Amino acid sequence: MKFVKVLAAVAFAVALSTTLALAADKADKKAPPGKVAGCCAKAAKDGKACDHACCVEAAKGKKNCEKCKGTNEEKK
Ligand SMILES: [Zn+2]
Ligand SMILES: [Zn+2]
Repeated sequence: MKFVKVLAAVAFAVALSTTLALAADKADKKAPPGKVAGCCAKAAKDGKACDHACCVEAAKGKKNCEKCKGTNEEKK
């Protein structure tokens, strides 16, 4: 029965690390302050940068475009 115990322990460890990895992933997504504008999020999904002049300008200042409903403040 020893082998089964080892197997169970390994399976448990794998499941635990997967859960932790997923949790870290979720935490990462919550981390950035503010909200990316919808148009920019769409462009990012396609691996592109949003080409709106206002968004390009905002990106230069490392900000989300507020004209397109992005925000730059951390929600508290
Ligand atoms: Zn945009
Ligand atoms: Zn914009």
